[in-house]
Amino acid sequence: MSTEHPGIKIPRCIRMNSRDNVAIIVNDNGLPAGARLESGLVLREFIPQGHKVALSDLAEGDEVLRYGVVIGTAARELPAGSWVNERVLRMPEPPSLEGLPVSTAVPPPEAPLEGYTFEGYRNADGGVGTRNVLGISTTVQCVVGVVEYALERIRKELLPRYPNVDGVVALGHGYGCGVAIDAPGADVPIRTLRNIARNPNFGGEVMLVSLGCEKLQPARLMPEHFQAPAAPGIGQDLVRLQDEEHIGFNSMIDSIMAMADEHLQRLNARRRETCPASELVVGMQCGGSDAFSGVTANPALGFASDLLVRAGATVMFSEVTEVRDGIGQLTARAATPDVARELISQMDWYDQYLNRGQADRSANTTPGNKRGGLSNIVEKAMGSIVKSGSSAIQGVIGPGERVQGKGLIYAATPAGDFVCGTLQLAAGMNVHVFTTGRGTPYGLAEVPVIKVATRSELARRWHDLMDMDAGRIATGEAGIEDMGWELFQLILDVASGRRTWAEHWGISNDLVLFNPGPVT
Ligand code: CA
Repeated sequence: MSTEHPGIKIPRCIRMNSRDNVAIIVNDNGLPAGARLESGLVLREFIPQGHKVALSDLAEGDEVLRYGVVIGTAARELPAGSWVNERVLRMPEPPSLEGLPVSTAVPPPEAPLEGYTFEGYRNADGGVGTRNVLGISTTVQCVVGVVEYALERIRKELLPRYPNVDGVVALGHGYGCGVAIDAPGADVPIRTLRNIARNPNFGGEVMLVSLGCEKLQPARLMPEHFQAPAAPGIGQDLVRLQDEEHIGFNSMIDSIMAMADEHLQRLNARRRETCPASELVVGMQCGGSDAFSGVTANPALGFASDLLVRAGATVMFSEVTEVRDGIGQLTARAATPDVARELISQMDWYDQYLNRGQADRSANTTPGNKRGGLSNIVEKAMGSIVKSGSSAIQGVIGPGERVQGKGLIYAATPAGDFVCGTLQLAAGMNVHVFTTGRGTPYGLAEVPVIKVATRSELARRWHDLMDMDAGRIATGEAGIEDMGWELFQLILDVASGRRTWAEHWGISNDLVLFNPGPVT
């Protein structure tokens, strides 16, 4: 991509559906009052990039449609050419969870895509890793400082001896003690931590650092590994800092390093081999969204998602508050009535969760979303759902659960980027695709994150953070299908070891657990 890009000069807007009475402005930096669109419509005021223009005269109370969906009603009279933003829109009520269409529009399977492969690490449990990483699990935040200290030394003293290992990461978190560990909701963070340790990128190597007195005891966190007295893990894969054998700090560090060394030897023996694309488990989400998310990056990702499904892969979409307003579209696409019922049950659980906190789905949208042209959560949701493509929804998992089966899966998670990423990690994703309009340097140390910009202006400015520019769809330089194929190929390349920009710089974010239970 050339660094000198003039941007497009002719006034341009995009209307998503023939029923829409608003369209969004494409031009970088927006368009001034008096600008004339191709249709002949003249703007009555300045409208920023990504924001909506009224295509016809709207009276107070008139429905405003984008994506062919009512995203709100006009709060006052809005003549054609007016700027339609969150201040002049009233938000509709969320759709009821009663009487939704159940598996009424299940898309038929598309022709399988054969012959697409990537180079991955096959694991004994059948999963396939895309990176070769030692993950050190922790039961409680108390031990994280010690583990981080040990990590510094592991990186300096041990990793150079194991060139096939990509890295070592502490699976630190704020949970484990000071929490109501028997309360409803506690199972979510606990199973999340348990399942993260099973992520295919860690190659089945379990290593746990515990304090000793914490509520989340090793046997509770990983019963299969530490419960039975004769289980192989006890004494081998566990360092407990309060054990009497540890005299002073360096004794703890030595134990952690000795244990890490054993696991690194085994990881170092892993080799990439050719695997079918059906072994991919792709987690999709968006963050820092704008009005282009649903026009460029998410439709391209939706197209790539359909290709992945055709190749037999597992593809997850998530973010409950960003699908809540389109739940009827999803229940209609559910492969079976059971899947539809499970979708509704996850929405209902989340409605109640938000109610308990005296909030609703409208708490989702950020100031940046609004500056980017997204007036409310309804408009944001319609753009977010697009990334699920058009395949049938084959299954639903709850937060922190491990995904099973192939095809398009709804993994119910909050929309917050780090919480969603952490839960998709627990579900077993081996590639993460993240679309953004405002821009975020998001990355994970555990799994590669491909970042797709919704706008070319962002892709140019953040040329060494964004892995793909989907803004070319808005400017007419590329079609959704071209970008979808390009993204599909990029997913295969990154799965095979091609580094993302976040990996190039070595930047990553913390894991953030979803804990719906009380803190004591
Ligand atoms: Ca998100």
